[in-house]
Amino acid sequence: MLILAGLLSFPLRVAASPAEATTAPVRHLILFIGDGRHLAHDIATSRYLFGHDEGLSYQRLPWRGQMATWDITTYDQYAAEAGAAPYDPQAIEPNLGYDWRLGGRAPWPLDDPATAVDYFLPFDGPHATDSASAATAMVTGYKTVKGAIAWGPRTPGGSSTTGEGPLPTLAELLRARLGFAIGIVSTVPFSHATPAALVSHGPKRDDYPALAAQILGETGPEVVIGGGFPGPSGTADYQYLARETHDRVRADPDYQVVERQPGVDGTVSLLEAAQAAANGGKKLFGLFGGPQGNFESPLAHDLPGTPLLTRATVENPLLKDAVLAALRVLTQDPEGFLLLAEQGDIDWANHANDFRRLIGTVWDLHEAVQTVIDYVNRPGDGMTWDNTLLLVVADHATGYTRLVSPLGPGDLPRQEGLGACGYERRESCTYPDGEVSYGATNHTNEPVPLHAAGAAAPLLAAVAGTWYPGTELIDNTQLFQVMAAAVGLPQASPLKLKARAPTAPAKP
Ligand SMILES: [Zn+2]
Repeated sequence: MLILAGLLSFPLRVAASPAEATTAPVRHLILFIGDGRHLAHDIATSRYLFGHDEGLSYQRLPWRGQMATWDITTYDQYAAEAGAAPYDPQAIEPNLGYDWRLGGRAPWPLDDPATAVDYFLPFDGPHATDSASAATAMVTGYKTVKGAIAWGPRTPGGSSTTGEGPLPTLAELLRARLGFAIGIVSTVPFSHATPAALVSHGPKRDDYPALAAQILGETGPEVVIGGGFPGPSGTADYQYLARETHDRVRADPDYQVVERQPGVDGTVSLLEAAQAAANGGKKLFGLFGGPQGNFESPLAHDLPGTPLLTRATVENPLLKDAVLAALRVLTQDPEGFLLLAEQGDIDWANHANDFRRLIGTVWDLHEAVQTVIDYVNRPGDGMTWDNTLLLVVADHATGYTRLVSPLGPGDLPRQEGLGACGYERRESCTYPDGEVSYGATNHTNEPVPLHAAGAAAPLLAAVAGTWYPGTELIDNTQLFQVMAAAVGLPQASPLKLKARAPTAPAKP
């Protein structure tokens, strides 16, 4: 059912103004990733906050599109079912990875073919990327298999252009060629798949201690802020970084370190540490998080007419605080910077079909993007829309969320299982009044929304639809080409599409 007639007439791409048509190299690249985020989640959160569908900070950016997210694992599932050849980076059939004729040209509710349910929710289980392979695609330009962190697989026939092993990342390219500073920020552990793929390598995403040791001990990004705190209020067992790594970074004179402390406001301590790092020419490591490793999601309250969000605890910062802290340090670098900022528990909320938590986490992303918009708009800090590219994407969708009947501002659906459902218990919430529905507790192959602003945003228009003729879809590997071109280091894609049968010339 389509309930957003107004959105359907909204252009999928807003024409860039002449001022935006320049492609002068940008020096500030900011990539926001809403993990597991789908268009339905943006609409739901905008309605809760503003009573209409288009009020989030990033929804108002001048460029919008949609992105396909499949990985090699997904491709090979579909290829096997179709009797087609497995993934070969020199002969890719993009429609095997994402068949828009079955799933739609754009995310629900912009498109809603009758075949979508069967395509996205196949009877034999999920056909979708995970965060590791999705992040790898965006930051290296290569497809890989589920669970791999900037790491190429051994592909059938040995036809991979790089073979098995580490894939060079955008961070490595920009640091080596342009002297860019690198920052990763996440509301989930900093060694989790999405941030890890930018600044470490490995075949297994769940080898957190090894990835954390690489990130802090070898790559040494100028900014690392995330969850994974192992102290009394956090995970007790050093799950996300080894004690040895933790001790070493605490003693590292290059890093200003700030951590969660009982009774201390994490926003205040993090911003103070960022200022100290900026003043002292140091890097910044901010380690926060709660029992599950994440920042503990902001909470949306059911107060029809008066939307209200509150922090789960003051001991963790919000994403916007972490982003502001990162900008204070990264803007000290005269050459420029790359910042990857992830709202990682949108995905966790959707795995649990937890609508209330979903609203809190998408609000967290909305606020953080607004913080960047304000920072760029503010004069005097060297960041302008002419030298900055802001991208807001998702790595994949999670939960197959559908908004069945509209909810007004401040209004949440009746949600059963609160306290029992949610990430902590790994049970699914249910909605007895049926205002919302979920079709999955895992990832889906649905296309995801993409928003952009800045001088180089029109570069996105150049690739839209090229892998998926008949649509405006961008492939997640093409995001890498766009970012590299935006900073003046264009990289040809190492991937080749299978030659298409020539189409008949159009009739005059
Ligand atoms: Zn997930």
